Amino acid sequence: MAGVQFADVRKSFGVHPVIRGVDIDIADGEFVILVGPSGCGKSTLLRMLAGLENISGGEIKIGGRVVNTLPPKDRDIAMVFQNYALYPHMTVEQNMGFSLMLNKAPKAEAEKRVKYAAGILGLDKLLDRYPRQLSGGQRQRVAMGRAIVRDPEVFLFDEPLSNLDAKLRVAMRAEIKELHQRLKTTTVYVTHDQIEAMTMADKIVVMHDGIVEQIGSPLELYDKPANLFVGGFIGSPA
Ligand code: ADP
Ligand code: MG
Repeated sequence: MAGVQFADVRKSFGVHPVIRGVDIDIADGEFVILVGPSGCGKSTLLRMLAGLENISGGEIKIGGRVVNTLPPKDRDIAMVFQNYALYPHMTVEQNMGFSLMLNKAPKAEAEKRVKYAAGILGLDKLLDRYPRQLSGGQRQRVAMGRAIVRDPEVFLFDEPLSNLDAKLRVAMRAEIKELHQRLKTTTVYVTHDQIEAMTMADKIVVMHDGIVEQIGSPLELYDKPANLFVGGFIGSPA
């Protein structure tokens, strides 16, 4: 496990600043949610943490180590995306083990990790199925399984539930929280959904137009919103 720090992080696309000096301190094992309206810069911030996007200024640390220029594979993170494209021609087991195979993990070790992740996610009996034979929730679990097998220091989620129907979304929130309680892996989770943030986060980072408006626990944001934006955003229906 590892903490994560953003210090005065900036990002411009061409001449357009989209992240304008962000400071966030995430403790070891914490479940932190970045929330804010569409276009405020959540995905960009997460992608910079993952190394999928260069940073224009400032510093990002994982486990105390500056990772600004490290390629994604050297950052010890695993990311679950909104469009968690599974490989259609691979079974559940192969989908989960694929990244381990790419990294040339010994076969026995890879099998052990896939079995462990499948056990946690309730996928034990589905290992031979293909993605088309799975429900939406099962596919989402396989996408999480692909991240878990890598045993990363930090999990990154970008709107992982936004393609699911409302009922399943609520169930998956609970599953992701249970997973976190079990593994205690530091997690940075992006959503535009206030309810998701309020019900899942240890700590919420409210973003707006490339800056952080407030950081606090769900209760702190609810009780003492720092400004009208936070109050309006947290208080309004999703
Ligand atoms: P969010 O995830 O909060 O919806 P994003 O991080 O995706 O927001 O985007 C923040 C801003 O950066 C938006 O104005 C978006 O149009 C812009 N942006 C994101 N990616 C790029 C890119 N590759 N090139 C140019 N502009 C981008
Ligand atoms: Mg986004």
